Amino acid sequence: MEHKKKQFAPEFEITSRAGKTSERVVMVAGGAGFIGANLCRRLLERGDNVICIDNLETGRHQNVAGLVSNPSFRFYLHDIISPFSVTGPVDQIYNLACPASPKKYQKDPIHTFLTSVIGALNLLDIAALKNATVLQSSTSEVYGDPDVSPQSESFRGLVNTIGPRACYDEGKRAAETLFHDMYEVRHVDVRIARIFNTYGPMMDSEDGRVVSNFVVQALKGEALTVYGTGEQTRSFCYISDMLDGLIALMECVVCGADPVNLGNPIEFTINELAELVSNRIPTAGGVVYEGLPEDDPHQRRPDISLAKSRMGWEPTVSLSEGLEETIKYLRAELEEIQNLRPAESDS
Ligand code: UDP
Repeated sequence: MEHKKKQFAPEFEITSRAGKTSERVVMVAGGAGFIGANLCRRLLERGDNVICIDNLETGRHQNVAGLVSNPSFRFYLHDIISPFSVTGPVDQIYNLACPASPKKYQKDPIHTFLTSVIGALNLLDIAALKNATVLQSSTSEVYGDPDVSPQSESFRGLVNTIGPRACYDEGKRAAETLFHDMYEVRHVDVRIARIFNTYGPMMDSEDGRVVSNFVVQALKGEALTVYGTGEQTRSFCYISDMLDGLIALMECVVCGADPVNLGNPIEFTINELAELVSNRIPTAGGVVYEGLPEDDPHQRRPDISLAKSRMGWEPTVSLSEGLEETIKYLRAELEEIQNLRPAESDS
């Protein structure tokens, strides 16, 4: 993708089509992605007016297709690295706009970096203008390949500035700096969430991350591809818990610009995850070991004491429960894809 200077900045109508004036107006950048679309749904359920902005690079229109008939919802196809403006008030902005799967964010690393930094700056400018609170979805990737466990917010990270994950990791680190400085210098009301591995319905079956890969492989009767020895760890947070955490952080009046870890502190090896998925999906075809991608972190486990003490938040959904829902969703998605394909006899 080319990174040209935009000739004009579009202006988006943000006031509710329903003409409601009392509810919050919330902008969700990246609102057609996995976390974003789940968040849009949740915000609409509580009565907010939601404006969703997405360039559909990894977000999917199907994730928000069921929302477009809702008069309190608007979708705009736009890339946040190009400036834009909005008419009317904006109370809150969630920045979830960035490919998050290594497979996807490495496809166009420069665009990933610019999305993280220039995109964030464009949203911060809108927040400053509208006096809105803006929440940055940062990531556990700011810790790189940590040598401490669990990772608390005070750990400064071990990150490779030029490795294949750097466009994302360093982009997100730079964005944290920008958010922090906009808070200090321009007094923008910011929040920074460091999101650990999250999974659940509305994940793209081709996303490339471990939970969706394993479930899809098992449903197709294939072997689960474990990278490296499978002894590296991750902590998997179910989407409903993550939404609770993001909303609690947005509403938190004592959090300011301090980064806050959001994730499930229960740690699993990738081998354990493969076993859990295989036990649940009888068609799973065993496990095949493949090479470990460069700079793949060895361990990830959030210390969530800060989120607990400041927001009273902690995850409640176990990996077993969350996997059930995720399997249901991905099974239905695969069946739909299958039904859309012409039958073999037709070809
Ligand atoms: N992984 C794996 N098989 C897959 C996809 C990922 O073993 O099909 C591993 C990957 O190497 C990493 C972990 O699972 O150690 C989590 O990878 P993911 O891409 O989901 O997210 P990350 O935490 O690395 O950003």
